[in-house]
Amino acid sequence: MMQKKVTILGIPFDNLTRRDFLSELYQRMQNKQKTFLVTANPEIVMYARDHRSYHDLLLQADFIAPDGIGIVQASRRLGTPIKERVPGFELMMGLLELADQDQKRVYFIGAKEEIVSLAVDNVSKKWPGLKIAGYHHGYFNHEDPEMIETVRQTQPDIILVAFGFPLQENWIKAYLDEADYGIAVGVGGSFDVLSGRTKRAPRLVQKLHIEWLYRLLKQPSRYKRMSALPSFIRAVYRQLKDGSAG
Ligand code: UDP
Repeated sequence: MMQKKVTILGIPFDNLTRRDFLSELYQRMQNKQKTFLVTANPEIVMYARDHRSYHDLLLQADFIAPDGIGIVQASRRLGTPIKERVPGFELMMGLLELADQDQKRVYFIGAKEEIVSLAVDNVSKKWPGLKIAGYHHGYFNHEDPEMIETVRQTQPDIILVAFGFPLQENWIKAYLDEADYGIAVGVGGSFDVLSGRTKRAPRLVQKLHIEWLYRLLKQPSRYKRMSALPSFIRAVYRQLKDGSAG
């Protein structure tokens, strides 16, 4: 039997296809339900293991999507297979498409000023039906409550937050505590891709599920961050051996 939630090293993933994620998010958007969406990859899972407060924050999310093949493989190993990987970038594109169809309002916050403004230009060209509620770069004091108020007043249906983890999830929690409604999701480096300044990996590379390798080769500075993968795999095997919940 397919499980609704699959816990990997203490993180409860929603076992939904991309399509189901999007239809649930769409429902909540229509109902104006505040929604905290997290897309978690092995790096995030490992970070949450070492940081209690971030772990507790993730448990407050309404949805946790399995971002990447590493999570899917771990779920299979543990005997509780997840249906499919749900890349954060694709969920974001799906949300933008829904916003386009329904003239929803989207706020973009994060990345450098030039990057976010290029990203917004490209999004409005691609999805002319979507309303730009506003945008702001990501290099302000993230503790400043005024920024939350500024964004809230633009009444966005969707708030894309691109600070990288754990900053983006922390800000989203603070934002949603104040907001009336909105689907908020941390999208990491996605504005860099939307801006056209950083290219997503070629399709073949995406199909082979080796986007991480491609990024690593193009940007060796990511190596330190990616070193979470081997310890993630070790931790999964330990969970399997101990039968512990992580
Ligand atoms: N960033 C930001 N504010 C900060 C730190 C980072 O807006 O205080 C942005 C940065 O410009 C980049 C994104 O956050 O656009 C982080 O991207 P990264 O690729 O590191 O995130 P990942 O996708 O790996 O989570």
